[in-house]
Amino acid sequence: MKILAIANQKGGVGKTTTTVNLAASLAHLGKRVLLVDLDPQGNATMGSGIDKSKLKHTVYTLLIGESSVAEAIQNSETGGFDVLPTNRELAGAEVELVDADARESRLKSALEALAGQYDFVILDCPPALNLLTLNALVAADSVMIPMQCEYYALEGLSDLVGTLKRIKQNLNRKIEIEGLLRTMFDPRSTLAQQVSDQLVKHFTSKLYHTVIPRNIRLAEAPSYGRPILAYDKSSKGAQAYLQLAEELLARHNPQHSAQAV
Ligand code: ADP
Ligand code: MG
Repeated sequence: MKILAIANQKGGVGKTTTTVNLAASLAHLGKRVLLVDLDPQGNATMGSGIDKSKLKHTVYTLLIGESSVAEAIQNSETGGFDVLPTNRELAGAEVELVDADARESRLKSALEALAGQYDFVILDCPPALNLLTLNALVAADSVMIPMQCEYYALEGLSDLVGTLKRIKQNLNRKIEIEGLLRTMFDPRSTLAQQVSDQLVKHFTSKLYHTVIPRNIRLAEAPSYGRPILAYDKSSKGAQAYLQLAEELLARHNPQHSAQAV
């Protein structure tokens, strides 16, 4: 079971879009996937077709010890994967857990109960380096960092890389940067092209070859509670996320690469 955190403390860079569509693409390729929504906004929950206003058991009740992981798991019918869903209550977790034991490793402990049940667990992080993101980074084997190729993109990146180094030293030795993903890419923008060139230069092997284009269908799909594959499979956005899933699998298992080519 591979646990992958999708993190970047900047908002609006495509974390949730990547979480939902990577989960659906991996499921489409036959993998058993669990999505964990760690953002109190609950966008990944809604985007997977699960109504966040009707939840009894959530990531929040799980983290404070009121629900078991089995109670909280739901199935996304539109996505073909399972979800640990979230609603606004999760915003209170930070305060409630302030004096709690092992507050940064509660998610890790909860997910340990699922060993062997999934091939991939994908964690959608909130846009902050807070206790919820910390729980994700302590539980994860690796981090995927979505970034928009714009002027301030690199600045935030060094903060995140610094945080990851400290987590690796103190809380989670196995954590690695899985890769950097260029999102919402517009090839006609000179700036986007320049930032992208810089990323290629600095991060070579850590940068995914797959680039997610700006595609209106990706922005429309969540309002139907559907991943892009269940909304417009032939769109450029759907094809890009499928390609990303293939690339991820190829990196983890060279045999898959041979089949995919
Ligand atoms: P984050 O989770 O990092 O805050 P989101 O995934 O919610 O970012 O994306 C921010 C906004 O941009 C959302 O409205 C989303 O629908 C839109 N969006 C994300 N990726 C794309 C894309 N590749 N093309 C067009 N719109 C996108
Ligand atoms: Mg988000």
